[in-house]
Amino acid sequence: MTDPDAPAQPRKAPTGTGVGAGTAPRLSAPAQAMRRLGLLRDIDLALHLPLRYEDETRLTAIASLHDGDVAQVEGRVIDCRVEERSRRQLLVRLQDDSGDLLLRFLHFYPSNQKQMAVGGRLRVRGELRGGFLGREMVHPTVKVVQEGAPLPAALTPVYPGSAQLPQAYLRKAVLSALGRAPLHELLPPGTLPPGLPSLRDAVQLLHQPPPQASAQALEDRSHPAWQRLKLEELLAQQLSQLQAQHERAQLRAPDLRQRAGGLRNGLLAALPFALTAAQQRVVAEIAQDLARAQPMNRLLQGDVGSGKTVVAALAAAVAIDAGWQCALMAPTEILAEQHFRKLIDWLQPLGLTVAWLTGSRKGKLRTTMLQQVASGQAMLVVGTHAVIQHDVAFARLGLAIVDEQHRFGVAQRLALRHKLDEQQLEPHLLMMSATPIPRTLAMSYYADLDVSTIDELPPGRTPVVTKLFADNRRDQVVLRIRDEVARGRQVYWVCPLVEESEHLDLQNATETHAQLSAALPGAGVGLLHGRMPAAEKAAVMSLFTQGQLQVLVATTVIEVGVDVPNASLMVIEHAERFGLAQLHQLRGRVGRGAVASVCVLLYTAPLSPTGKARLKAMAETNDGFEIARRDLEIRGPGEFMGARQSGDALLRFADLNADGPLLQLAREAAPRLLQQHPAAARAHVDRWLAGRAEFLKA
Ligand code: ADP
Ligand code: MG
Repeated sequence: MTDPDAPAQPRKAPTGTGVGAGTAPRLSAPAQAMRRLGLLRDIDLALHLPLRYEDETRLTAIASLHDGDVAQVEGRVIDCRVEERSRRQLLVRLQDDSGDLLLRFLHFYPSNQKQMAVGGRLRVRGELRGGFLGREMVHPTVKVVQEGAPLPAALTPVYPGSAQLPQAYLRKAVLSALGRAPLHELLPPGTLPPGLPSLRDAVQLLHQPPPQASAQALEDRSHPAWQRLKLEELLAQQLSQLQAQHERAQLRAPDLRQRAGGLRNGLLAALPFALTAAQQRVVAEIAQDLARAQPMNRLLQGDVGSGKTVVAALAAAVAIDAGWQCALMAPTEILAEQHFRKLIDWLQPLGLTVAWLTGSRKGKLRTTMLQQVASGQAMLVVGTHAVIQHDVAFARLGLAIVDEQHRFGVAQRLALRHKLDEQQLEPHLLMMSATPIPRTLAMSYYADLDVSTIDELPPGRTPVVTKLFADNRRDQVVLRIRDEVARGRQVYWVCPLVEESEHLDLQNATETHAQLSAALPGAGVGLLHGRMPAAEKAAVMSLFTQGQLQVLVATTVIEVGVDVPNASLMVIEHAERFGLAQLHQLRGRVGRGAVASVCVLLYTAPLSPTGKARLKAMAETNDGFEIARRDLEIRGPGEFMGARQSGDALLRFADLNADGPLLQLAREAAPRLLQQHPAAARAHVDRWLAGRAEFLKA
């Protein structure tokens, strides 16, 4: 009766294999609910683990209960009546040898009244409260029992479920599936550390823990039974990554061994600066991959402003020198334009034909460019992820470079692989990101990815100072802008994304633009937003880049890639609405030259706890790795992985934040298992990942 809508008698749980499976014409409501939860096979039910437990293994004397105690008591009904107070309610008085208490029900059926008639014996579980009518339990769980009825030997599991799925039904279904589920040991002895229970024992224990089991260890998932399950899961994931690596090693890629002279040397000679040691190191790592016959699958990570673009340019030059095409992709058109502008400026004077494939290049121009790509005349192709993915045929695509890979969906990456189909080759893939993958993720989901890290900024940068301002101090910020402009510096003002309303977005940015224009007479204030035609955007951007505009009001279109070293102040309005990675990216737009720069985060109180945590992180650190770590902590790995968050591929039991040591164990065990017991390894992956392995590999 915890759930007043639940029938007093649980409906009969179905028996036989494959609960709810098949095409039985009329499934009961709970059976349908189970199906919706994906609880189809015995193994699904066996691995549907409790959220928490209730202790029904002992009885407490009524007199010894304190306010707030959750306990189970047993006694005889000495009074049962329906009363009209503020509302109709059922009041039942229960007495044991030590004292009595009131049970109060606001929702009840006549059948409940009968069930709790005077003289009956009840076992009741609930929270004791000192109410208006004395000590009471409101809506406790109630069972009619015979005197001396045995207490359950195990803690009672409470499962994740839904309103249509009564706990009692689910418990029965799980219990019956547990006996049939194929939980036999697949792992040879010695695979996992000693001292852990077998899989069957672990699962059994988690469903029916003995009363002496530590409720704490069960709930915080540190109990050895939990460790066993998490290790199983992590091991499966590591194995599938190893298999992916192995499969990739079988693939063939274009031969991009470095040729003497040509574009690469021309580019190195033309650069206005010397590469940092970190840039030289990652360029060498990439060149090594490109010289191999297997497709590269490498992530280049480096904090904003660390100089990834020139590394990409050098990689492109290597591919082109070897006679293969290179595609450069960014998430949006303006980013593609902004981000690769510099790269093009470096390469075009060296005689390279570049094709721009963005959504706004339509008609004849686009047709011409597509022809150039198809014929191989254009060796460098620049565009958005989507454009490159669809109708573009390459003559010889050797290398694809993807900026901001965390936005590059799994499906898009798979599509890219087929660009070279006819030649039985796969292009090399280089992804770039300013949002570093936290270590635990790199060790798990991205284990099949090689990572190069630029861990030093070009010389002469002054770290950006971050300040938090409540939005009622906006005037002060405007004064500050005036100062910067007077000193010949430039300023960004970023307006927030108004959820689900592009229109409001625009209005907000337009108003701010008008306000700042009025407040800063004599300064050039530009406006940039997502709805402007591409040509207009490019024009505004170029005025700002050339210093003809001093202030740029923008929606998040400038999020990544914009490079104006003279900009020294970044104002982010409603900073609490942005994600941490996004804030860090935006902050990275300033502090690109030697000028001391400031980032002002304007926020509107009150802040949500996560909003507060994000702004605090921004104020406390400039380090992209630390930001990524905090982001993971605040959001959890599911969201961190963007495109993957909807996939079932996420870990169900292990938690990468908390289970680093187990992950390490799994990493050590996986290669051994694969080598010594390949059949067991395969069976283990099948059991845990079934159809999801493909997804994990992408
Ligand atoms: P990000 O890694 O964020 O993409 P960029 O590639 O846009 O960074 O580089 C940021 C700025 O630093 C650019 O102006 C770029 O020309 C400059 N830069 C890159 N490498 C160096 C270097 N080794 N020395 C000096 N400036 C550099
Ligand atoms: Mg960049």
